[in-house]
Amino acid sequence: MATEITVIPGDGIGPEVTSATLQVLEAAGAELEYDRQLGGVSALEAVGSPLPDATLDSVRRTRIALKGPLTTPSGSGFRSVNVALRKEFDLYANVRPARTLFDGGRYEDIDLVLIRENTEGLYVGVEHFIGVGDDPRAAAESVMIVTRHGTERIVRYAFEFAKAHGRKKVTVAHKANILKYTQGLILEVAREVAADYPDIEFEDRIIDATAMWMVLDPYRFDVLVMENMFGDILSDLMAGLVGGLGFAPAANIGLEAAMFEAVHGSAPDIAGQGVANPTSLLLSACMLLDHVDQRETGDRIRAAIRSVLQGGVVATRDMGGTDGTAAYTEAVIRAL
Ligand code: NAD
Repeated sequence: MATEITVIPGDGIGPEVTSATLQVLEAAGAELEYDRQLGGVSALEAVGSPLPDATLDSVRRTRIALKGPLTTPSGSGFRSVNVALRKEFDLYANVRPARTLFDGGRYEDIDLVLIRENTEGLYVGVEHFIGVGDDPRAAAESVMIVTRHGTERIVRYAFEFAKAHGRKKVTVAHKANILKYTQGLILEVAREVAADYPDIEFEDRIIDATAMWMVLDPYRFDVLVMENMFGDILSDLMAGLVGGLGFAPAANIGLEAAMFEAVHGSAPDIAGQGVANPTSLLLSACMLLDHVDQRETGDRIRAAIRSVLQGGVVATRDMGGTDGTAAYTEAVIRAL
C-alpha cells in the first residue's frame, strides 16, 4: 500500500526542485501518495499565514513531509517556518550526509554525516533589544539554551546512527573553552554518553579548529555531532566539499514525525529560471524512502544520480554545465 506524505514545495526554486523530485519518484515506482500543502512566503501570499493550519494538520496526520526551501526574511518579518516546524514536531535530529558523487566535487571519496541538534541553542529565538537613553535598539541579546535532556538524546542519536551504519568514530564539535556553561554542558554530557559506546571511537574538538580540519583533511572525520547553529554553518561547509549546496540532503527526525528537505535555501538569485540543481531534494527524498522501508527504490535513484553525474554529459550550471533542471531530471529518469 502506498504511504501518504505531505509535500510542501516551498518558495523560490522550491517548486522547481520539488516537481523534478516527484517526477523521478514516480518514474522509479516509489509507492507514495502526496498531500500538497503550502508553507513560507508563498503561503503568506496565498492564505495570509507562512505556516497554515492545514499544513500542520497534514503533517500531524501523515507524520512524514518532503519539504522544499522556505524563504525567511532577514532582520525583521516573520520567524523561520523551518524552525517552527522542527519545534512543533520536536524533530530533534537533523541528519546531514555529505558524500562525493562526482569528480567536480573538491574532494574524492568523502563520506561524512553531520548530526545537528535541531531544537535548542541560539535558534530557540529567545532574543530582545535593550534600550539605552533614546536608542531603543542600543544593544541586543540572544539566549543560548542547552539542556541535559536535549544534549543526551542528540549525542545518543549520533552514536546509535554510527552503530547502525557501521561507522567507526563520533566527533563532538563544541566551544566549551569559551562558553563554559552551555557548551561545557554539551561536552560533559557527550563524554558520559560516549562511555556507553566503547566500540566507537569518540573525540571532542573545538568548533573553529574543526572547521579548519574539515577543509584541510576531511578524512579524519566520520560522524559529527554538534549544537544547532554550529551544525547549520558546518553542514554548508561540508556541502562545499562535495560540490556545493546542490548535493546536500537532510532529514529532520523526531519520535512522532520526520521531515526531509535540502540543506539549501530558496536561492532567489536563480529562482524561476529552470536552472536549479534538484539533486539535494532528490537525495533527501531517497532518505525519506529509506525511512518508509522503500530502501531499494531509494538506492536505485541514488545509483541513477551517480551514473548521470559521473557520465558528465548532463550537468546543471552549479556543476559547470549548461543544462537546466528539466534536462538533468530527464537524464536521471533515463538512468533508472
Ligand atoms: P541559498 O541556499 O538559497 O543559496 C545560496 C547559494 O547557493 C545561491 O547562490 C544559490 O543560487 C545556490 N544554490 C542553492 N541551492 C541551489 C541548487 N539547488 N542549485 C543550484 N544552486 C543552488 O541561501 P540564501 O540565498 O542565503 O538564502 C535564501 C533564502 O532561503 C533565505 O530566505 C533563507 O532564510 C532561506 N533558507 C531556507 C532554508 C530551508 O528552507 N531549509 C535553508 C537555508 C536558507
